[in-house]
Amino acid sequence: MGAITGKAAGAAEALVAVVHCSRVQGGVHKKYKYTGHETCAGASLAFAGPMGCQYGCLGFGDCAAACPFDALHVVKGFPVVDPEACVACGNCVHACPKELIKLIPRNARVIIPCSTKDSPKVTMSVCKVGCLHNRACIRKCPAKAISEVDGVVTVDQKKCIAYGPACKEVCLPACKKVHILQPMSLEGTYKRLTEAAAA
Ligand code: SF4
Ligand code: SF4
Ligand code: SF4
Repeated sequence: MGAITGKAAGAAEALVAVVHCSRVQGGVHKKYKYTGHETCAGASLAFAGPMGCQYGCLGFGDCAAACPFDALHVVKGFPVVDPEACVACGNCVHACPKELIKLIPRNARVIIPCSTKDSPKVTMSVCKVGCLHNRACIRKCPAKAISEVDGVVTVDQKKCIAYGPACKEVCLPACKKVHILQPMSLEGTYKRLTEAAAA
């Protein structure tokens, strides 16, 4: 593993929290004005929350409130993980009622930051960047590292990392929405999300 990742044995186990939603880049509108208690847990109980995408981030920051390490901040209504500060304690994972946050290896190569289970038609009607489930990435990946898990197109990070660079990351160009199936760069993801959320 060390030869593949360039990291010492054991370091490959290091994890980081990643929010699997790109609402901030998808132009998702609100379907109604929520006036209840401003928590994600509360909002999710009212018709799955006010966001047009029923699977998307609600933005009230239950995850940020649960983080004891000041590693997760809501920037203009969207949660952004600071990978430098995250220690992968998992508190945010448990706090999110939409189950959008996963701990993934810091040396992950690709991520799908979307958790929709909707049909392509529905997804296209609510979000510009949502996963369309056309399965091109699933078909192309020689490692069989991508599959639908409970209706969500998901990368099996262990399989992906173990396969190494021989795949030439063919999943990325296979995805019509390459901004959804995108390379994992902790610094790049943090910068992009911070900028997108602040825009
Ligand atoms: S709660 Fe834990 S896992 Fe989540 S961002 Fe904070 S330090 Fe990372
Ligand atoms: S990731 Fe989950 S807990 Fe955090 S703001 Fe979004 S919906 Fe709320
Ligand atoms: S094609 Fe390569 S980078 Fe993409 S999921 Fe498969 S093994 Fe990982």
